[in-house]
Amino acid sequence: MKYNSELRQDLVSGDWIVIAPKRNLRPHQFAGKDRRVKAPKAGCPFEDLAKSGHEIISVYQKKKSKSWDVQIVKNKFPALDHGNICAIKTREGPYSMIEGRGYQDMVIPKNHDKNFSQLDAESANLIFRAFQDRYRFFASDSCLAYVSIFQNWGPKAGASIYHPHYQMIAIPVVPPDVNHSLSGSARYFAKNKACVHCAMIEWEKKNGTRIIKENKGAIAFAPYVSREPFEMRIFPKKHLAYFEDEKEEDFKWVVGLLQESLSRMKIKLKDPDYNFFIHTAPISEKSKHSHYHWHIEILPKISISAGFELGTGIEITVVDPDEAAKILRS
Ligand SMILES: [Zn+2]
Ligand SMILES: [Zn+2]
Repeated sequence: MKYNSELRQDLVSGDWIVIAPKRNLRPHQFAGKDRRVKAPKAGCPFEDLAKSGHEIISVYQKKKSKSWDVQIVKNKFPALDHGNICAIKTREGPYSMIEGRGYQDMVIPKNHDKNFSQLDAESANLIFRAFQDRYRFFASDSCLAYVSIFQNWGPKAGASIYHPHYQMIAIPVVPPDVNHSLSGSARYFAKNKACVHCAMIEWEKKNGTRIIKENKGAIAFAPYVSREPFEMRIFPKKHLAYFEDEKEEDFKWVVGLLQESLSRMKIKLKDPDYNFFIHTAPISEKSKHSHYHWHIEILPKISISAGFELGTGIEITVVDPDEAAKILRS
């Protein structure tokens, strides 16, 4: 391997992957365990971030508090490192490759014991403020193309540390799933002069069977085409392509509904491991993607992809999304 980490493009599909051998060095509290067990506070690397050698980027406090509540820090074992120059695309025989340049940061709330759904509204909103502040910094960097924001909760979802935390990875290419989503929504827009996500929201509201919960500014529903049992999507009701442009007064509706949806999943589905992530229009070629509609996807780790799924890309979902919504709504 030429660099610390590399993005490599599949010659046939055009999709990108990252090769990052150094990620193997990170500590793993769940090593050898397939069940999520609560790690004690003593020895938790996120209790004193400076002491455990994390480079701190920003600190957020609650209005009536003098100590930190949320911090943004650099990942100590990043798959990508930014450096001073933009990533350079090179070739190796027929293959294309980009040096692994970008950012891999973490947003860490102080609370070791409470996951996102259990935090008070102020803390939950501070996490999203941290996301947006850091996102805006990435968006001003012309070397970068996309920022992925997500939470891994539990070992089945890929978490290596118990203490609830969130990640932000900024990369120099637009990832395959986002590309598919962008081209699909662009196609729909060209044909119907409307946002495909707004059309889905409108139909789901009219139909009602897959809605889990809605509030003034956001809606959560089980998607008609659900890739996993109990998959959930949360959309801001106002059409907006870009996460970085969401107004603070509108964020609270999405944040509140994310807490509510995760809380319902915890209670109704016996607290499964899960991933949630944000899908938004990329930071590169910004003006091109106003037809997109940013949103959050929640995927509980309930089923395992097997040969058919891996071989075809067709997921077999064993719970009807109508039934999933009914259970989560009740
Ligand atoms: Zn902790
Ligand atoms: Zn829309």
